[in-house]
Amino acid sequence: MSLNLSRATKGLSSSLTLQINAAVDDLRKKGIPVLSLGAGEPDFDTPPHIRTAAQAAMEAGHTRYTAVNGILPLRQAICRHIEKKKHLTYMPQDILVGAGAKQVLFEALEAILDPGDEVILPRPCWISYPEMIRMLGGVPVFVDSEAERGFLPEIKAIARAVSPRTKALIINSPNNPSGAVWPRKLLENIMELAKARDLYVISDEIYEDLVYSGAAHISPASLSEDAFRRTIVVSGFSKAYAMTGWRVGYAAGPQAVIAAMGALQSHASGSINTIAQYAALAALTESQSCVEEMRLTFSRRRKLLLHLLENENLRPAFHPEGAFYLLMDVWPYLGGEIADDLAFCELLLREKHVAAVPGSAFGAKGFIRLSYAAHENDIAEAVRRMGEFVRSLQ
Ligand code: PMP
Ligand code: GLU
Repeated sequence: MSLNLSRATKGLSSSLTLQINAAVDDLRKKGIPVLSLGAGEPDFDTPPHIRTAAQAAMEAGHTRYTAVNGILPLRQAICRHIEKKKHLTYMPQDILVGAGAKQVLFEALEAILDPGDEVILPRPCWISYPEMIRMLGGVPVFVDSEAERGFLPEIKAIARAVSPRTKALIINSPNNPSGAVWPRKLLENIMELAKARDLYVISDEIYEDLVYSGAAHISPASLSEDAFRRTIVVSGFSKAYAMTGWRVGYAAGPQAVIAAMGALQSHASGSINTIAQYAALAALTESQSCVEEMRLTFSRRRKLLLHLLENENLRPAFHPEGAFYLLMDVWPYLGGEIADDLAFCELLLREKHVAAVPGSAFGAKGFIRLSYAAHENDIAEAVRRMGEFVRSLQ
């Protein structure tokens, strides 16, 4: 035996999106006025009534462990919330509350994967899915999609990627990083395929409330009885309620899977922070107007960003309708000094103090991810500097 690291962590680096957030913070602490279009979280504070509920919970002495899967009133509120929005009926025992959608996704995969099992990942996709699958000994099988098709995967390509080892498929709509909202027909086709090949579907719906210009979020679990039985719906409070730091997410799904996830969580971390659970309960049971206000602000910023990019002759891959991201095409500027989108982002940060995330991190080579979870003035100045930057390259 030697003092080696495990196979799971060898070569594993920490999440690039979180590294970029940290780099921006460091530069700002040094007094460098960085403008960030790299953020993967709302720039709003958590609404006051939610913070007040947390204070009240502390004062009322809600400071001990809770049921591993979450306090019953929160799981009941999650059931009512899902019923109202997605017309899906779950019981509290079908719900698991975890430390953010991130932990819940990891546990969902852990509950269903054996070493060597394959998981279909339509790309571009969120940076953490492939790593989670690999950490568990699974194999991510990527299905690439084209910018020209709005980064929507083709059902034929997904079907070709399914093998006898395929266990599951991950859907993420609205999508990080592309902002695409997947249409009903595509979701129906995927769920038919999942039925034919008997696959689990993990539906990451963390951006479900952030849709614009008439687009509608559809949960694949709502498409049929069969779809309901094989889908693990994952969502949370981070994006819609500006609660990233509270770490509350949840899964709703088949009872056997939720029970297995709960057993895993009971050994790995236990119930999540009790005070945060009461905050989340207030988020769901009190006024929902904060969600709509923040959505409208994102919607305005989305329009502004698209308009400003056009003015500077910068090219979004397509006009996305969800989340708070878009992918910008940087192919025309690559070659010579700038080999790839990573180098583009590095130089943009160094020379113009504008942060963005390289598309390669998500399997979207030649693109960069811009987040409009930033103040309008910062968006305007950042786009102006990007325009200046690309002109200096030509
Ligand atoms: N899924 C996607 C697609 C995300 O972008 C994020 C954001 N970090 C998460 C899940 C996790 O969110 P959280 O753990 O904050 O609930
Ligand atoms: N999901 C966000 C992002 O993509 C937050 C960072 C993370 O958790 O990876 O930037």
